[in-house]
Amino acid sequence: MSRPNEMTKGPESLVREEIRALTAYHVAPAEGMVKLDAMENPYRLPPELAAQMGARLADVAVNRYPDPSGARLKRRLRETMGIDPALDLVLGNGSDEILQMVSLALAKPGACVLALEPSFVVYRLAAVAAGMRYAGVSLREDFTLDAEGLLGAIARERPALTWIAYPNNPTGNLFPRETILEAVRASPGVVAVDEAYYAFSGGATLLDEVGRHPNLVLVRTVSKLGLAGLRVGVAIAAPGWTRELEKLRMPYNVNALSAAAADLLLEHREVFDRQTAAIVAERARLEAALDALPRARRFPSAANFVLVRVPDAPRAFEALRQSGILVRTLHGSHPLLAHCLRLTVGTPDENTRMLEALAPALG
Ligand code: PMP
Repeated sequence: MSRPNEMTKGPESLVREEIRALTAYHVAPAEGMVKLDAMENPYRLPPELAAQMGARLADVAVNRYPDPSGARLKRRLRETMGIDPALDLVLGNGSDEILQMVSLALAKPGACVLALEPSFVVYRLAAVAAGMRYAGVSLREDFTLDAEGLLGAIARERPALTWIAYPNNPTGNLFPRETILEAVRASPGVVAVDEAYYAFSGGATLLDEVGRHPNLVLVRTVSKLGLAGLRVGVAIAAPGWTRELEKLRMPYNVNALSAAAADLLLEHREVFDRQTAAIVAERARLEAALDALPRARRFPSAANFVLVRVPDAPRAFEALRQSGILVRTLHGSHPLLAHCLRLTVGTPDENTRMLEALAPALG
C-alpha cells in the first residue's frame, strides 16, 4: 500500500502524457484457434530441418553474450536477400525495433514523422515514443496513393522521417514505385520503405535504389518468411547510417539462439521459397473465392493477407471466432477501414474453413 504522499509517484502522474494517451499494440489471444490474424506463415519447419536447428542450438554457448556485431547473421541476410556488400546493415529484434531505432535517431526537437494512413500503427507509436510530432497522409478511398497529397505533406511538414510500407499493411497493395522515389527526392528527411512483405510482392522492391539515395532506408524482416518467432529484422541503407544507428541499438539485441537459428534456417532458403510460393498460390485462390461472394469487396494484395470489406465486420468477425477462426477486424481503427477484415493467407485447409464460415456471415 502506498502512503498518501506517494500517490503522485505512480504511472498516472509520472509517465509522459502522450504515452498515457497511446493504446498498446493489441494482440488477441489465439489459443486453439485457426490463426489468420497476424500475417504469419502457416507452415512449420520440415521435421529434418527442425531437428538440425535443435542440434545447432544445443551447441550455442548461452553462458556467453551473443556476438555483438552479428557478423555471421548479417552475412547470411546479405546472401539471402541479395544485399549489395557496399550497403550498410543494422540488425533489429524484429523490424519493430528498427522502426524504433530509426525514429529515435531522427528525433530532433520538433521533428515530424509522416506516414500514410491507414498503414502499420507502430509508425505512430514509435514516433510518439521518440517525442516526435506525427502527421498522417490519407490514402484514397480505394487505398491507392494520393501522390499530390503525399508530396504536398512533405512540402508542408518537412518531415524528418516518412514511412512507406511496400506492400502496405493493412491494405496489401503496392504504391507506384516512381511516386515513392519522387517522395525520396523531394523529402528533406529520411524516407523509410518498409518491405516486411517483400517475399509476396512478385519481386517489387526498392532494394536496387538504396545505394543511390542517402536518405532512403529500407526495412526488412524474416518474420513473414516463416521466422516470426525468431525476431530478426534489418535496416539497409547507404554507407554512414550503420555508424549512427549502432549507437541506438542495444548491444545484444538479437539473442544468440535467434541468431544461430536464423543463420542455419536461411541457409535452407529453398524451404521458405517453397512455402512462400504456396502462400502466393493460395492468395490467388482466396481472392477468387472472395470475388465470388456478392456481398464482399476484396482489395488487391501483393502480401500474405487480403483485405476485404463486408456488410457487417463485427458480426462476421464474431461468426468466424465462433467457428474457431481468428482474423483481424479493422473496423473502427480508421474511417477508411469501415467494415474491413484482414485475412491472413493460411494453409489451403485453413482458408477453406475460413471461407465456409465467412460466406454465411455476410447475409
Ligand atoms: N512492418 C510492417 C508493415 C508490418 O506489418 C510488421 C508486422 N506486422 C512489421 C513491420 C514488424 O514485423 P517484425 O517486427 O516481426 O519484423
